[in-house]
Amino acid sequence: MPPFAFFKGEFVPLSEAKVGIMTHALNYGTAVFEGIRGNWNEEDQEIYLFRIREHFQRLHKSSRILNLTLDYSVDELFDIAVKLVKMCEFREDIYLRPMVYQSGEVVGVRAHDVDNDFFIFVAPFSAYFSGDQGIRCCISTWRRPMDTMIPPRAKVTGLYVNSAMVKTEAMKNGFDEGIMLTQDGHVCEGSGENIFLVDDGKLVTPASSDAILLGITRSTVMQIAEEELGVTTVERPMDRSELYSADEVFLTGTAAHITPVVEIDHHTVGDGKVGPITRRLSDLYMDIIRGKNERYGSWCTPAYQKAVST
Ligand code: PMP
Repeated sequence: MPPFAFFKGEFVPLSEAKVGIMTHALNYGTAVFEGIRGNWNEEDQEIYLFRIREHFQRLHKSSRILNLTLDYSVDELFDIAVKLVKMCEFREDIYLRPMVYQSGEVVGVRAHDVDNDFFIFVAPFSAYFSGDQGIRCCISTWRRPMDTMIPPRAKVTGLYVNSAMVKTEAMKNGFDEGIMLTQDGHVCEGSGENIFLVDDGKLVTPASSDAILLGITRSTVMQIAEEELGVTTVERPMDRSELYSADEVFLTGTAAHITPVVEIDHHTVGDGKVGPITRRLSDLYMDIIRGKNERYGSWCTPAYQKAVST
């Protein structure tokens, strides 16, 4: 099956889903998007879409912040996504990329009076970071824009220039990922992941007021840590030096899953190995997202079995 996309209100072959060079969003970064994983389960011969409704709810919120019009309800978006995944017939892990964008072909930077449209495409997507021995991070020289600049709680395409600079700087300097600080020097997040540390058996993560994207994996981790391990999370400003002295550090994200961090700025985290809380959370999470944990079954949509109305 050729891959398909949902584009301009129709399901079309991906190769036919093209935009013109005058498209407003291409010129000015005026679009909001999501990244959703579909996780292949060989035993069930099924793709489980993880927390897809929460992703579409966040897409609606991002659209409101950027003054974009998203004409489809969460239920309609859900049906479109499931139908598209069924059409593509992938039998491996996939990534869904919905986007609401300024589709008008007009010159002039603004967030109003430009036509808007919506698309989704699906692509095969394996592990984002290789190996499960943990990654090496640095603190980026780039800072995260604040809510008064480009609101990071909205997943705005233009904001990802910042993430791209962070990622490239980190990799060119020999690290796997860069961690941004906020304008006032608190720990913020990775280029595409939220960050947690383990201290004295508790989880700590930056609060929503610290210019983070409110990650869906972040909220998943807080819930399963509490319910399955009895470990609570404190959301508060986090200092850079706390990362150096923490027992464990990990990143969370749809792409990154739960990725252990074993070194930051050449400081070894804990004993340099993946810590016990990170390991238990990661094992639980990987089962949950593949539909292997009934307790969290409601987070997983079995795309191939699901009947849709569209
Ligand atoms: N922060 C940033 C900057 C991101 O791009 C992402 C990935 N969407 C995250 C955090 C993690 O969010 P989520 O767990 O919802 O994927």
